[in-house]
Amino acid sequence: MDIELFRPQYEVEECLNEIRECLTVGWTGAGFKTIQFEEAWKAYTKLTHALFVNSATSGLHLAVKALKVRRKWSEGDEIISTPLTFVSTNHALLYEGMKVVFADIDDTLCLDPESVEKAITPRTKAVMYVGIGGNSGNYEQVAKLCAAHGLDLVLDAAHLAGTRLNGAQIGAGASAVVFSFQAVKNLPTADSGMVCFSDPDDDTYARELSWLGINKDTYTRTHGSGSYKWMYDVESVGFKYHGNSIMAAIGLVQLRYLDRDNAYRRQLGTWYDNCLKNHDAVRTVPIAPGCETSRHLYPILVENRDETILALNSAGIAPGVHYRINTDYPMYSYAKGSCPRAEWTHRRLLSLPMHLGLGFDEIKYISESLDSIVSRNMVHA
Ligand SMILES: *Cc1c(COP(=O)(O)O)cnc(C)c1O
Repeated sequence: MDIELFRPQYEVEECLNEIRECLTVGWTGAGFKTIQFEEAWKAYTKLTHALFVNSATSGLHLAVKALKVRRKWSEGDEIISTPLTFVSTNHALLYEGMKVVFADIDDTLCLDPESVEKAITPRTKAVMYVGIGGNSGNYEQVAKLCAAHGLDLVLDAAHLAGTRLNGAQIGAGASAVVFSFQAVKNLPTADSGMVCFSDPDDDTYARELSWLGINKDTYTRTHGSGSYKWMYDVESVGFKYHGNSIMAAIGLVQLRYLDRDNAYRRQLGTWYDNCLKNHDAVRTVPIAPGCETSRHLYPILVENRDETILALNSAGIAPGVHYRINTDYPMYSYAKGSCPRAEWTHRRLLSLPMHLGLGFDEIKYISESLDSIVSRNMVHA
């Protein structure tokens, strides 16, 4: 057996046809397919705006920058975030000189609303929330807290493509929802992302920032088009963050299969649940009520996590860890020890293989291997 943690699956012929169209018409950059994909994404999520970018990391940075500038945040103002995430989440805050204040997680691996509330100070401007592994966690409670305290909410939805909460795309109440279409996420392209603002002016500003601050419209508005077509205004020091038509072409195709693929991931999750439910030494992570998870990850908690990973490797299985606590890294170490629950959790956490190439036999094999390893470890301990 050789079972990988992730393996992206593409609708190859359909993707090639969409890409061929870009190459044939000679349009691979921003515009054309990126516009089609933004429209398709809005129709799918029912979010009001969608800006296609070259990664979720860029999207998170744009979200933080747009909110900072437009809400007049100062450097050193506080944003409450989770320590149990991919570093992009928190780096996006550091890019803009915000102070990352960590709140602790609950048993869903997402931010604990009570801990968030305790972390609010007069300098708090926003909360950065991450739906780990496709789980909404207690997102709605955090959204309510933000509304009550006048805070912006940014949802890092890198794992949440297709996650629904009470029947609708998760993201209600967020100022920005940021998706990843990186190669191992649920809607794989190669690298790209989408940032969905609720405020049209935030969207307009971020759109301009995503292309170096260039505003093609202002000049033509003032001077008419025609001979001034080459002319544009540069209104701010923006970035080269916009997406391109090749990535959007892949995204358009993959989106058609997202619900089907996520339903199969949930099936894999149910198989894991059933295979693991009688193993006292393996804790699974509860999906929040009302959440139809995208099942990006299947996380579990075990004692002797590192030994377990090595033993799984010997059985031909490649688990992962999502994530190492960010306060272990030097730029966040100032907060070391401030989140005991995340600390406890990350030492026991691992992600079992989760991708569309798996079937019941693999899930059974992984669960049985895990069972024999964990019970062996229990005897050692
Ligand atoms: C993957 C990921 C990102 C970054 O996505 P990219 O598209 O690779 O930039 C951000 N946050 C989380 C939680 C992720 O898993």
